[in-house]
Amino acid sequence: ILPPEVYRQAVHQADLAISITDPSARILYANDSFSRITGYSAEDIVGLNESVLSNHTTPPALYADMWASLKARRPWSGKLLNKRKCGGTYLAELSITPVVNDKGEITHFLGMHRDITELH
Ligand code: FAD
Repeated sequence: ILPPEVYRQAVHQADLAISITDPSARILYANDSFSRITGYSAEDIVGLNESVLSNHTTPPALYADMWASLKARRPWSGKLLNKRKCGGTYLAELSITPVVNDKGEITHFLGMHRDITELH
């Protein structure tokens, strides 16, 4: 069994961009890789909705599919075009997992993504 601090540091230092949101996608936590990839510091981004990363070119049907999965407590993964703080875009490979409590209610979402622009 690991001490909680190890889990915290492992998430904080992970090479993937990791964020934790409330059920409406408002960001409560972002790790260092999230800041490196998006250009937003944790101070910039905490309190904002994940939609600040949207480039507004992603088809609404993709978001509808995403939210249908998430509301059904199923994880969702896919690729979308994101916008950095500076305005540049990148291709993100994103995976979102609903976090549920012992009553099965969604309390948070865990988002993990990486920049796959160079792989395309
Ligand atoms: P909106 O008009 O807000 O949403 C488009 C459609 O999505 C709506 O018509 C509705 O069907 C659905 N929808 C949106 N919010 C909700 C909600 N709270 N409950 C139910 N249905 C909803 N988006 C990105 O573009 N890039 C990301 O990297 C990204 N990461 C995310 C990480 C996490 C952990 C979560 C939970 C969400 C993430 N999103 C991301 C999705 C983001 O929260 C927005 O839904 C998305 O960006 C669309 O925002 P919009 O303002 O363009 O459109």
